[in-house]
Amino acid sequence: MTDMQLIFEKSRPGRRGVDLPACDVPEVDLADALPRDYLRQVPPGLPEVSEPDVIRHYTALSRRNHGVDLGFYPLGSCTMKYNPKRNEQFARMSGFAGLHPLQPVETVQGALKLMAALQEALAAVTGMDAVSIQPAAGAQGEWTGLMMIRAYHRSRGEERTTVIIPDSAHGTNPASAAMAGLRVVTVPSNDRGGVDLRALERVLGGDTAALMLTNPNTLGLFEEQIVEIAQRVHAAGGLLYYDGANANAILGKARPGDMGFDVVHMNLHKTFSTPHGGGGPGAGPVGVKAFLAPFLPSPVIRREGDRVVLDDDRPQSIGRVHSFYGNFGVLVRAYAYLRAMGPEGLRRVSEDAVLSANYLMRRLAPYFELPYDRTCKHEFVLSGARQKRQGVRTLDMAKRLIDFGFHPPTVYFPLIVDEALMIEPTETESLETLDAFVDAWAQIAEEVKSDPDKVRSAPHTTVVSRLDETLAARAPVLRWTDEPSS
Ligand SMILES: *Cc1c(COP(=O)(O)O)cnc(C)c1O
Repeated sequence: MTDMQLIFEKSRPGRRGVDLPACDVPEVDLADALPRDYLRQVPPGLPEVSEPDVIRHYTALSRRNHGVDLGFYPLGSCTMKYNPKRNEQFARMSGFAGLHPLQPVETVQGALKLMAALQEALAAVTGMDAVSIQPAAGAQGEWTGLMMIRAYHRSRGEERTTVIIPDSAHGTNPASAAMAGLRVVTVPSNDRGGVDLRALERVLGGDTAALMLTNPNTLGLFEEQIVEIAQRVHAAGGLLYYDGANANAILGKARPGDMGFDVVHMNLHKTFSTPHGGGGPGAGPVGVKAFLAPFLPSPVIRREGDRVVLDDDRPQSIGRVHSFYGNFGVLVRAYAYLRAMGPEGLRRVSEDAVLSANYLMRRLAPYFELPYDRTCKHEFVLSGARQKRQGVRTLDMAKRLIDFGFHPPTVYFPLIVDEALMIEPTETESLETLDAFVDAWAQIAEEVKSDPDKVRSAPHTTVVSRLDETLAARAPVLRWTDEPSS
């Protein structure tokens, strides 16, 4: 079954999968409407297939895939939780989905009210004063936040260009800092998995623009010294940036604004009910304390009496970071989720996510090394160093897990843990699923001793076994050609 054809290879001239209605508006000759240089000389090489062929093709592909709706997906740092289907229905309501981005503001008051209410809810959850829902992803939220921090320092006549980032941080943090034209300084973690305060003091100075922190961090551990850290950074004139991509452990429990953070971003596609994976769409709203509000991306969505307006008159703004209204469908899902859960429901989300993670951590600890033996939050990190000494790598065990019907956890991240296995169960899994996951690991740990080759050659139950880990990302459509099918 490895020789499944591409849809392009199934193409036969003249076959059609859709029956478009006759054109009921005057036809325009594109040659009159657009400059000749921009017009295609040959038709695009789209596949020509019948409706049954196209349905069968994608149904077959979907059966070879794994997703949250198919099985457990404990990918650490990614919050792959079940997303309620009713939120999909809301996002598809014609009054939302059928809006044109250029409609006059007076005719889209409902959409704008939803966005204003979502901003207010996210501000309440994070303890911030103002929120922009423009950014399309966590990484773009980080970049937006750092650009605001830069603009703030500049507005005070200071050119601060260093961002301090712990060695446990998500890779997007240093990448966003570099994209924002800032220099990255790394601080090491202490033996409890938190920021080493003395190392932090050594790198703080007149050049410090900000400290970027995730709390709980990517080890799943709450930063116990956050108040001291915030005091030190502020005393040095720097600001605190909160990477809130995974807010699953803090909802209704702790707020970055109360911990001393000045800027946060959240990932609506992790915590707030938008399915993700495969590249989007998502949303990475940013929240700020009042003193940074003038720098928020423009236009700002703002209530004015019982109307909502798009305010473009903001001289200190860093400018627009997304066209039109951001990824609006994602915003509808997040709003529906927040309304359905309410404050009490959100607290339960965090309690259940943390409970599930601690249950799994304790039950899996006998089979692996546990580098930080502390109560974890929404996720935890194990080490496969013991198995590595027996000749089996964490990657091999992760591949073997696929044979049990589970998506492997995040591996080899965070970098500071040798042979890391980073597991995030989320709040939406049953005890039976968690127990079945433990049983699978128990068997794999046993196989490492009794039949290591079986683990090293896994997976055995999939259509293809070991894939090139990066080729698909680097050359996504190897056989796409821009020629008409022959
Ligand atoms: C996922 C994640 C990000 C990046 O979010 P994207 O939407 O993928 O850009 C940043 N930080 C942390 C901790 C994350 O888990």
